[in-house]
Amino acid sequence: MADYNDLAELMFPDITKTVEDLENEYPARNLPEGAQVTRFAPSPTGFLHTGSLFTALVGYKYAKQSGGVYMFRLEDTDTKRTIAGSADDLIVQLANFGIVADEGYFPEGDKGAYGPYQQSKRRDIYRTVIKHLVQEGKAYADFCTPEDLEKIRAYQEANKILPGYYGEFARDRNLTPDEQIERIKAGMPYVVRYKSNGDHNRKVAFTDAIRGKIEIQENDVDVVILKGDGLPTYHFAHVVDDHFMRTTVVSRGEEWIPSTPIHLDLFRALGWKPTKYAHLPVIMKLDNGNKRKLSKRKDPEAAVSFFIESGYPARGLLVYLMNIANSNFEDWTMQSKDYDISHFQFTWNKMSLDGALFDIDKLAYFCREVLGKEHADTILPAATAWAKEYDEKLYSKIEKNPEYLARIINIDKDKPNPRKDFAKYSDIEPITRFFFDEDYVEIEKAGLPFNEKFDKEFINDFLKKAAEEMLYGVDEPTWFNSVKELAQKNGFATNNKEYKANPEAYKGNVADAAELIRIALTCSKNSPNLHEVIDILGKDRVVERLLTAVK
Ligand code: GLU
Repeated sequence: MADYNDLAELMFPDITKTVEDLENEYPARNLPEGAQVTRFAPSPTGFLHTGSLFTALVGYKYAKQSGGVYMFRLEDTDTKRTIAGSADDLIVQLANFGIVADEGYFPEGDKGAYGPYQQSKRRDIYRTVIKHLVQEGKAYADFCTPEDLEKIRAYQEANKILPGYYGEFARDRNLTPDEQIERIKAGMPYVVRYKSNGDHNRKVAFTDAIRGKIEIQENDVDVVILKGDGLPTYHFAHVVDDHFMRTTVVSRGEEWIPSTPIHLDLFRALGWKPTKYAHLPVIMKLDNGNKRKLSKRKDPEAAVSFFIESGYPARGLLVYLMNIANSNFEDWTMQSKDYDISHFQFTWNKMSLDGALFDIDKLAYFCREVLGKEHADTILPAATAWAKEYDEKLYSKIEKNPEYLARIINIDKDKPNPRKDFAKYSDIEPITRFFFDEDYVEIEKAGLPFNEKFDKEFINDFLKKAAEEMLYGVDEPTWFNSVKELAQKNGFATNNKEYKANPEAYKGNVADAAELIRIALTCSKNSPNLHEVIDILGKDRVVERLLTAVK
């Protein structure tokens, strides 16, 4: 009579290592107290999803702030869904956000002592552990065909029984080693299943780092651990990988909560301590007042590439995602005006539970804040790289005269309240358009938004005088005094108090006067600091615009 050892040898004749060998090969990490080991474990199935960037950021942040290790593990065991090249794209995209793994899969080769970091290269590790489970009678060969499984499912459905391959419905769980050996030798295809001892009438509890205690039905399904193609399922690979990679916290999407009992069951069967879990909320959006998941199909913002193509700064998106991640983040930004998230202390318990809501206006707010802090020395190179790919017009303007654009971008930058009018690199070209004469002529043609209380003649006359009398090449207060004088001579009040006291006596206040000049020069009521605009345009172009603004 054959025993489990004979069965295991037949199934895995080439496996000579033991689980103990693996324990020695991947020893406990020698890290300082409190250091955390996290991982981002995507499947190479296409583009970088906004939710995946969120997951990667949280894992990265948590490991980094603790002085630990952040890994990138490629989960490529679902060969049907794998898209060639997408893994390397993910790495490149994450690197654009500064999220670079300490260990893991890299296009140029693995880095780290706990690899391989690509599941398809870990076959023998999984097979070693499965051989051990077979030897212990905790795993078995299952010869059910898809039709057999369908029959079981149909029976359960017809009889309103909980569906699944478990207990009495697990047809092959009680095959003896001899019976299994006979079938394998006869060449019958099989998968390997884990023989669960759970009971779905019982509950198992675990403490989720974000959600606290979760109580959930125990697993009793004999899950597949090794598929017919010789690769493991997610459930098994997760347990084995996170054990031997010595992960301390598994942060993953909340869609994995229902499967966690399977993972705890497997950890128990192997005699290993389960990792800590942090199940992250899914990113939602408001659609006609209803919350729903960001959808790959319906929402362009579900793909990170949307933000990149639209010109949002990578750092702004990260800051925004950190704001989704922790409810105290925005308060922190009020004190910590530099928006350097590496200084923020992320915590699991400040995470919202009911689905993080994606709000593009809030994203724009954070991007404006982030770019508001930067100067042309960092904005311009990033904008150039972006424009080269996505905005020909901006790119050619920068190429022609980078210094000119740098001066424009730096307007108001050193003021206590720096300008915050760029949310994305794509805002730069439209906002700075009036600085370019050809564009100015075009915009002017469409009509300038002068206040209707002034007639054309008056405006023309005032602007002519401004061209002659305004001072150029002087500091801001001196220049402004010259505008005030000009305003006064032309019937404007020089301060708002005077004007408010007796509005009938004046044409308007000095701000109205300055606005006429502003509109003539920039075609808009809202433009950056007028003194700096005048300085950058230079006297000749300013005079020309003032003299020709009114047609
Ligand atoms: N490959 C899994 C996924 O993409 C990873 C889940 C996990 O982090 O464990 O959903």
